[in-house]
Amino acid sequence: MDLTFSKEDEDFRSEFRTWLDANLPADMRTREWWRGKSAAESFQARRDWEAKKAEAGFCGIQWPTEYGGRGGSPTMKAIYDEEMAKANAPHSVNPLGMAFLGPTVMAIGTDAQKRDIIKPLLNTEVIWCQGFSEPGAGSDLAALQMKAEAQGDHYVINGQKIWTTNAMHGDKIFTLARTGSNEGSRHAGISMLLVDMHQDGVESRPLKQMTGESEFGEVFFTDALCPTTEVLGGEGNGWQTAMLLLSFERGSSAIGQYIDFRGQWDAVADIARQVDRDGRPAVKDPVLRQQLADSLIDLECLKYHSWHVLTQTSQGKDLGFEASMTKMMWSETFRKVSDAYEAVLGMGYQVPDPQPGLSLEELTTMSLWSRSCTIWGGSAQVQRSIVAERVLGLPR
Ligand SMILES: Cc1cc2nc3c(=O)[nH]c(=O)nc-3n(C[C@H](O)[C@H](O)[C@H](O)COP(=O)(O)OP(=O)(O)OC[C@H]3O[C@@H](n4cnc5c(N)ncnc54)[C@H](O)[C@@H]3O)c2cc1C
Repeated sequence: MDLTFSKEDEDFRSEFRTWLDANLPADMRTREWWRGKSAAESFQARRDWEAKKAEAGFCGIQWPTEYGGRGGSPTMKAIYDEEMAKANAPHSVNPLGMAFLGPTVMAIGTDAQKRDIIKPLLNTEVIWCQGFSEPGAGSDLAALQMKAEAQGDHYVINGQKIWTTNAMHGDKIFTLARTGSNEGSRHAGISMLLVDMHQDGVESRPLKQMTGESEFGEVFFTDALCPTTEVLGGEGNGWQTAMLLLSFERGSSAIGQYIDFRGQWDAVADIARQVDRDGRPAVKDPVLRQQLADSLIDLECLKYHSWHVLTQTSQGKDLGFEASMTKMMWSETFRKVSDAYEAVLGMGYQVPDPQPGLSLEELTTMSLWSRSCTIWGGSAQVQRSIVAERVLGLPR
């Protein structure tokens, strides 16, 4: 593991930090600023800020400059993630495009796809959704039923997707559909189509989540059209394209997540010092102390795992199925920090009393949200099977 930074890396850090200091107002870094806004206003504010950041050259850090990226290294991307998390900067409005579609297009897209997709994605002109899951196909993705029938120079698409993040904001969706026969293999005859969501045949409906937000929804396709040229990875190769994309989804370095969760752990420990448990500060409770220590140890392991992964990717190693280990580690560590928060406040954590100086509302949202992270991108159980079979070579 290499823990040193080159001069070029440090120069990049200081340039980005200086830009953030000047362009991310202090109030925008606080929960209060966002609380007064509707979901649509928050989304637009994040979209505008991200576009401004892209214009300043702080986007697509690892992607070539000819497609609008910065042409940087994996280490610079990790520094970018670290600085964004430290500054409490708004999360990307285009996470599915940035983290999953973009790297896949850079790896296997045609030149025309790289030109057409990457720049509008970076400057938030086009918000991308991911249409993989269906009511009958989640962990068992190969059970997907959505059909796309070629008619002339278009596919005509019919079917339904579900749990689609950003469904209500999406401009385009990369989605899996059956374009051919699956005889001989359930993985055959699937294609990844790039579909315009602004057409009569595509309808998005929001789904309410337990955080109170509707950041995901359902998408219905009724005779929706997609040009036959809008296929990523070639017709019939959708399964292979999806597996490549999922390896990006499951993550490379989790250094940004580490900074976020470590900040949350510090806040939880602070609350444990202040709230009462049987006539003494909760932090004096020996069981709770163990729980806090346990989650802190996992956090520090996550940090070193992230540096290890970064060293590997910097040396050009393809992570492949090992990406599942990172996904397992960060999502389960997040759960542990959230469990510790829930243990400090007891069941009341779901409706916390406002207490001066304690940002309980934010931590409660984090805690509720953390439950989804061991589900999306492949559940914790499925990741374990992948690591067992594909990384460790254990029998099925
Ligand atoms: C917040 C959030 C955002 C999401 N965003 C998107 C998105 O943008 N696009 C998209 O396509 N999907 C999205 N999803 C869907 C997500 O990918 C699926 O929920 C996930 O793949 C699990 O599928 P499922 O919900 O159908 O559960 P199921 O597959 O029905 O699983 C139910 C339970 O059974 C377990 N299980 C299933 N099969 C196995 C097995 N073989 N071995 C061991 N255990 C098993 C699972 O671990 C789980 O605990 C999102 C989900 C969430 C929660």
